[in-house]
Amino acid sequence: MNVHDSERLAGLLEDAGYVRASDDATPDVVVFNTCAVRENADNRLYGNLGHLRPVKAGHPGMQIAVGGCLAQKDRSEIVKRAPWVDVVFGTHNIGSLPALLDRSRHNDEAEVEILEALDVFPSTLPARRDSAHSGWVSISVGCNNTCTFCIVPSLRGKERDRRPGEVLAEVEALVAEGVLEVTLLGQNVNSYGVEFGDRLAFGKLLRACGGIEGLERVRFTSPHPRDFTDDVIAAMAATDNVCHQLHMPLQSGSDRVLKAMRRSYRSERYLGILDRVRAAMPDAAITTDIIVGFPGETEEDFAATLDVVRRARFSSAFTFQYSPRPGTPAAELDEQVPKAVVQERYDRLIAVQEEMSWAANKELLGRTVEVLVAQSEGRKDGATRRLTGRARDGRLVHFAPVGPEIVGEVRPGDVVTTRVDYAAPHHLVADGAVLSHRRTRAGDNWEAGVRPQTRGVSLGLPSFGVPADQAPAGDGCRAG
Ligand code: SF4
Repeated sequence: MNVHDSERLAGLLEDAGYVRASDDATPDVVVFNTCAVRENADNRLYGNLGHLRPVKAGHPGMQIAVGGCLAQKDRSEIVKRAPWVDVVFGTHNIGSLPALLDRSRHNDEAEVEILEALDVFPSTLPARRDSAHSGWVSISVGCNNTCTFCIVPSLRGKERDRRPGEVLAEVEALVAEGVLEVTLLGQNVNSYGVEFGDRLAFGKLLRACGGIEGLERVRFTSPHPRDFTDDVIAAMAATDNVCHQLHMPLQSGSDRVLKAMRRSYRSERYLGILDRVRAAMPDAAITTDIIVGFPGETEEDFAATLDVVRRARFSSAFTFQYSPRPGTPAAELDEQVPKAVVQERYDRLIAVQEEMSWAANKELLGRTVEVLVAQSEGRKDGATRRLTGRARDGRLVHFAPVGPEIVGEVRPGDVVTTRVDYAAPHHLVADGAVLSHRRTRAGDNWEAGVRPQTRGVSLGLPSFGVPADQAPAGDGCRAG
């Protein structure tokens, strides 16, 4: 979500007349879009600001802006600690950035503007997309849950849903610019529709994506086990372009810890969803997030997590050592687990998950996979002359771009099929001849240096003063 917000910020600035600085130039404007989810975000921000201080001193007129979750949290504290910062803006008003830069330049003083609720939905703002072939599309922002370890609800606010018609219009706009793959984004995609009273809205949205010609892959993140309903599984299985991939956060396998985290599902419900997903889509790759060492976690609790990890057969997992986020309820709990214990459990979890990931990947040996070629994701690719991409199920594939089927050159954004001949825990390798190569418009765009530049899409939110000839007809809702 943060990365996608950065695309919006870049789009806004380009729209206001700014141009991207070349790598070797000292930029006139530097914008930090901060994230408060990972540990040490504040140390890194203030460290970076410290490095910029002498740069700014040697480059009169340079402006520094700080936005995102840390700005929403620290507010005017940022200009107290780093008075050379010119603009601070929060998560709810990213659209104000160009105006704040102007105002600060004009008044020659710092501008701090933090709102408590969403100003305009970020997707109504222009975006400068990073990828020619894959695009993020927000379906909601904010979260109505109160997981005790999480800072998101206090910084991103309550869930706000976009109308399905707006989401689909943005997807269509991306596809019209050659994009083949979209990832629908929300803190909790399964509660999508809560705001406009349709509990089944997410499944309907997936099915509606199935009708968009030229859209080859649909992914989404993140689902929530509490709100996950079977109609979403049915929609995934029935909609050809929806990838058989599910990234569903587990966080803990212990029901006692889940309760303390205020995550209102239990491990059996979680595993039941996975069973139903696999019954409908036997080839589904399921990944997860797990936190180790939540306050009060006992050895028994941790053993329950290991047990669920073994039973769930995740193809991979993002594993985190718990660390307190100031301002969250869990940070106040007395029973923080000692660092050495957390580390030891974490190492054991990684070892089990590696074993599971490797076993799952080995099942794909000899299989044909369809790969959407990406810009190189691994350092080794240069040395091995392999290219890299993602299979439909999200697995990373390094493949040799060789064989008579290749037309010209294989470019990021093109689609190939190839056969897996080696499996590692975190990737697959295909060194044989490519079985097919399809040149795509996304590949042409990549080659030409063209990136999608979506205008803001807004069909359904109430607005003021829109001239009649620009007013949308109806709410554009097709899925709901
Ligand atoms: S579901 Fe929980 S972890 Fe996810 S954003 Fe909401 S509060 Fe945070």
